[in-house]
Parts: sequence; C-alpha cells; structure tokens
Amino acid sequence: MDTTYQLLDGKRCAEALYKEIAAKAAEVKSERGRAPHLAAVLVGNDGASKTYVESKVKACESVGFRSTLIRLPETITEDELLDRVKALNKDKELDGFIVQLPLPSHIDADRVTLAIDPRKDVDGFHPVNVGNMVLGLPGFLPATPSGICELLKHYSIETAGKHCVVIGRSNIVGTPMSVLMSRNAYPGNCTVTLTHSRTKDLASIARTADILIVALGKPEFVTANMVKEGAVVVDVGIHRVPDATKKSGFRLVGDVKFDEVAPKCAWIAPVPGGVGPMTITSLLLNTLKAAKG
Ligand code: NAD
Repeated sequence: MDTTYQLLDGKRCAEALYKEIAAKAAEVKSERGRAPHLAAVLVGNDGASKTYVESKVKACESVGFRSTLIRLPETITEDELLDRVKALNKDKELDGFIVQLPLPSHIDADRVTLAIDPRKDVDGFHPVNVGNMVLGLPGFLPATPSGICELLKHYSIETAGKHCVVIGRSNIVGTPMSVLMSRNAYPGNCTVTLTHSRTKDLASIARTADILIVALGKPEFVTANMVKEGAVVVDVGIHRVPDATKKSGFRLVGDVKFDEVAPKCAWIAPVPGGVGPMTITSLLLNTLKAAKG
C-alpha cells in the first residue's frame, strides 16, 4: 500500500538555519570585533572540488562570515602544503579551515588531515574530533552526518528505539553516521546496522529499516523492494547522469531510485535538495562554534 510521503527538504531546513547562523555571526562580530572566518584550501583544478569550494565560500558570505579561498597549484609538494596548514593553524584571524579533498595523488591526505589543529578542523576529520564524536565529547562533527542529524531534528523524526540501517561505511559518511545514530542523544538511540560492500543479502536487511541512510555512491541502487512501507529514507548519494532533455545535458540523481521508493516512505530526502544543502550548513555551524571558542 502506498503512503503519502513527506520530503525531508534540506533546502528549506538550511534556509531556516542560515537565518539563525547569521544572527549569531552578527553577535560574534559585535562581541569580538570581527566576523567568524573560514578558509578553504583548494589544491589543483578539479572541477567538482572547485564547485564545492566556491559554494562553501558563497555560503559564508550569505551569513556574514568572512571567507578566504586559498588556491594552490596541482604541483605543490606535500611539505609545502603542510607548511601552509601550519601557518593557517597559527593564524589568529582565522577560526577554522578546510582542505578540500581529494588531493593530488602525490600528497598523503591523511598526513594533511593530521597536521590540522583539531580546534580549527571544522570538517571534523581529524582523529581527535573523530574520537570525541565516538566518546560523545564536545568537538566538531563531520559535516554530512551532522547535517543529516540536523535534518532529522528539523522534521522531528522519531529515532529512539528505531532500527537504522546505514548503507556504506566511508570515514566521512557511513561510519560516523552509524555512530551518531546509536549515541545516547537525539537524534540517536537507534539500533544500528552498518552495511557495506561485503554485506550478504543487503535487500532483506534494508527492508527491516525504520530509518534507511544510503551512502554507497551508486546511482539509483536502492529500489522499492529494499524499503519497508512507512520508512524514513535519507539519500546521501549524488551523481550526474546524462539526460538529453536537459539544457546542461545531465540531471542529478541519488543512490535511491526516488520515483519508485518515495511512495513507500513516510519521509524521504530528495536529490538534489536533501542532504547536499545540509552539508554546507554543518560546516557553517562548526565555524560558528570555532569562532565562539
Ligand atoms: P565511498 O565510495 O567512500 O564509500 C562507499 C561505501 O559504500 C563503501 O563503504 C562501500 O563498502 C559501500 N558499498 C559499495 N558498494 C556497495 C554495495 N553494493 N552494497 C553495500 N555497500 C556498498 O563513498 P562516500 O564518500 O561515503 O559517498 C557516498 C555517496 O555520497 C557518493 O555518491 C558521494 O558523492 C555522496 N556524498 C554526498 C555528500 C553530500 O553532501 N550530499 C557528501 C559526501 C558524499
């Protein structure tokens, strides 16, 4: 039986949060004499990374933050990049910064992440922040999982005692999402199953989910037969697929086959306009937190 689904509308949720962030940024500015300040380091000329970084910079401007885009050449050595990171760690005019991933293959991204001062690590990727998250201590949460939590909170999605199935175990989405959904807080208190590429019979596990969080990076992988009636589905994936009917020549799809899955859901986050806008919102929230000290 089809249910009437409701959208977990990340765009609307982000708009509401942007207003709150802008008001708090103005408070910080009047108290400290300067606005929260985020820097983004972009190495090389990867088109997608450039788009992501530019939208982060634009988001900063829209809430009254200061932002600095640091563009570095593809040929930069690892040591030179580490020196830049050290300088940013020491910069007293800067509250937080991110180094956009992926980095060119001659640079070890883990070494770069480790070099970032955890107090300025607004992406929440440093092991100190990951450890704090696991232990439930204060710190910076990784942007995408934290954005999903904000989205669930905004729509008052009940989570306690629910079965949450996470598909995908990456360090930036699936694994931290599984930690956050099982913690003793709201949103959280779920019984969590973390699934991945070696999971057997994924469809039958996914079908037991009250809350299904999908982050495996395969276009329209999750089909209606993998979803329980009345489930809450959060689609993290984002892909460009060729579409001759569009002026751009492509359209965006997620990891979930929206048209057939949505009618089975109580709530579903669409792509685009679901998780995407929330990721940047979390980065702004982390920067605000860093600015408040
Ligand atoms: P990833 O490639 O690092 O990880 C994918 C995970 O999926 C792996 O853990 C793998 O074990 C699992 N997996 C692969 N095939 C599987 C299968 N057949 N069955 C079960 N599990 C399988 O990806 P990621 O960085 O976590 O990103 C996932 C998706 O989310 C991508 O489409 C990415 O573009 C998107 N993403 C979106 C945002 C956003 O802000 N909207 C942020 C980050 C990532």
